[in-house]
Amino acid sequence: MQAQASTPYDASIHWTVTDRCNFSCSYCVGASAPPVDPKPIDVPRLLDALDATGRRVLVRFTGGEPTLVPNFPQAVRAISERHYVAIISNLSTPAFDETLDLVPSARLLRVVASFHYDELRRRGLLDVFARRVRRLRSLGVPTDVEAVATPDKATRVEEVADATRRLEFAFQWVPYFGDLGGARYPEAYSTDDLRRFGISEVRRSVFFRKGTPCNAGVNAFVAFSSGAAHPCHHIKRNVGNVYEGISFADELTTCPARRCGCPLPAYDPPLMEKARALVGK
Ligand code: SF4
Ligand code: SF4
Repeated sequence: MQAQASTPYDASIHWTVTDRCNFSCSYCVGASAPPVDPKPIDVPRLLDALDATGRRVLVRFTGGEPTLVPNFPQAVRAISERHYVAIISNLSTPAFDETLDLVPSARLLRVVASFHYDELRRRGLLDVFARRVRRLRSLGVPTDVEAVATPDKATRVEEVADATRRLEFAFQWVPYFGDLGGARYPEAYSTDDLRRFGISEVRRSVFFRKGTPCNAGVNAFVAFSSGAAHPCHHIKRNVGNVYEGISFADELTTCPARRCGCPLPAYDPPLMEKARALVGK
């Protein structure tokens, strides 16, 4: 997910608001998530906690499938009145449309439309997906349509591209991050695979940031369905909760992880620049 050149917000929370999903992609890293029904978002407590930060916050919803949360459209609407939102979704649920009905486009800063071709085809949802991508574009919401470049797709790149031409939307392949078939990705891609998928070495390299500065904990956080917040998925220090308040660090982090599937500075370089300015580095 790439942010715009500048940001109207001062902090971001990458919130895995539920582990549940209505799809069952064979390569899903959350496939073993327990089948717990998503709880509604406690909107008043969340808004109080966001407002108490004294910052304008981008809440970036992910999952699982975030639109399965029962009051998702209403919660996103309420957040968008004072803060900003982004959504990572498979675009498969009616709640996604309802969210677009309720949320002002100017406050929905980005949608990552996760394009799971096999699941969409199996469920007869390719047309629905294409229609929602068109709607996002017509609303002017910055939208990245992304397909996960699992190794089995390397020989099916043309098949998927043909389908999207028929459906009239463009997409890009993004690297798979995880273990598949006894190999670890993105390291295991061959040069030929990368060429087929149109993935550059630079794009692959964003997952390897050990020893580099990171804004995790300064103005970028991750949170889980309980609301518990941490600087990032590798630094599990307790920094609060989206419902109770979050404490902000005043020093950049030096990345401790050999591999990072959720590189916050790469997702949002302008926010990283704001963190540097904040800490004077
Ligand atoms: S849509 Fe995403 S979260 Fe859901 S099963 Fe597929 S990869 Fe997993
Ligand atoms: S693991 Fe990722 S998010 Fe965490 S400090 Fe390293 S680069 Fe930043």
